[in-house]
Amino acid sequence: MAKQRVLSGMQPSGLLHLGNLMGALDNWRKLQDKYECYYFIADWHALTTNYADTKNIRTYVREMVIDWLAAGLDPEKAVLFQQSLVPEHAVLHVLLSMSTPLPWLERVPTYKEKMDQIQDREMNTYGFLGYPVLQAADILIYKANFVPVGIDQLPHLELTREICRRFDQFYGNVFPEPQPLMTEYPKLPGTDGRKMSKSYNNTLNLSDTPEIITKKVMAMITDPARVRRQDPGNPDVCPLFSLDRIFAPKEWCDHVNVECRRAGIGCVDDKKELLKHLLAYLKPIQEKRKELVNQPQMITEIIHEGSRKARVIAQKTLAEVYEAMKL
Ligand code: SF4
Repeated sequence: MAKQRVLSGMQPSGLLHLGNLMGALDNWRKLQDKYECYYFIADWHALTTNYADTKNIRTYVREMVIDWLAAGLDPEKAVLFQQSLVPEHAVLHVLLSMSTPLPWLERVPTYKEKMDQIQDREMNTYGFLGYPVLQAADILIYKANFVPVGIDQLPHLELTREICRRFDQFYGNVFPEPQPLMTEYPKLPGTDGRKMSKSYNNTLNLSDTPEIITKKVMAMITDPARVRRQDPGNPDVCPLFSLDRIFAPKEWCDHVNVECRRAGIGCVDDKKELLKHLLAYLKPIQEKRKELVNQPQMITEIIHEGSRKARVIAQKTLAEVYEAMKL
């Protein structure tokens, strides 16, 4: 029986970090063994919020693919491709935009949130409002059966499903409705205690050397109420302890959970122990990275070959869409 198809993408808007690794890449790596996976570099999506400053985008595209491969994505198992090399996404985006009611886009929760959050750029653009339609095109053009999502991305997928149903209602049954592949992502705090995110500049990057990771972790925020070594701390509110729980052995976490509360252990000790496990976890990824950085031609070929394969499917679907719409 043919494998079911999964689609997911990532914006090349900065260097990938530990949150991306634990939140998406680890999951993608597992899925590639079970499904026919299409993973794409969403470079057009990166333009929706960063259209004016594109000077780093090519670097980010390449670095992202290096991170993907270093994290275990395999171009023999999954199709790794670049959105802008498959122009059929844009054609389907235009066609879907004809039948998508404007209020559907205006009510997307992240639309208003991001408009409020991003103050340093003009965000009131056609491209930004329409990005969920582009997202729908990305998914539907491969007739993806599943899209891996966390709970917060469910409304986006629901909108894709609505766009899909509306298209099919007018033109016949062209697209299968994509289903969510619910994924539990561990929430990773950044070095300042907020969610790890490029936009907060608080990330531990996959491309950081062990020395940089060490420096960042040693400077990381802990329980803010624990000012001096002799003050008891509270692991429940400590961002570093959240990383302990993911990377350090259970015995160490249990030990910290008791000793921190009676000032029996200092934050420096805890950070050093965390670093031991975190660096060991990252070591194979960083070693693979080093090899890949020296093979720029191979990276180009992987992107081009993946995009060529993706295009075959995208063109086939688009031909069906033209037929259904009588174009
Ligand atoms: S000892 Fe560990 S858990 Fe306690 S406050 Fe310091 S870093 Fe956080």
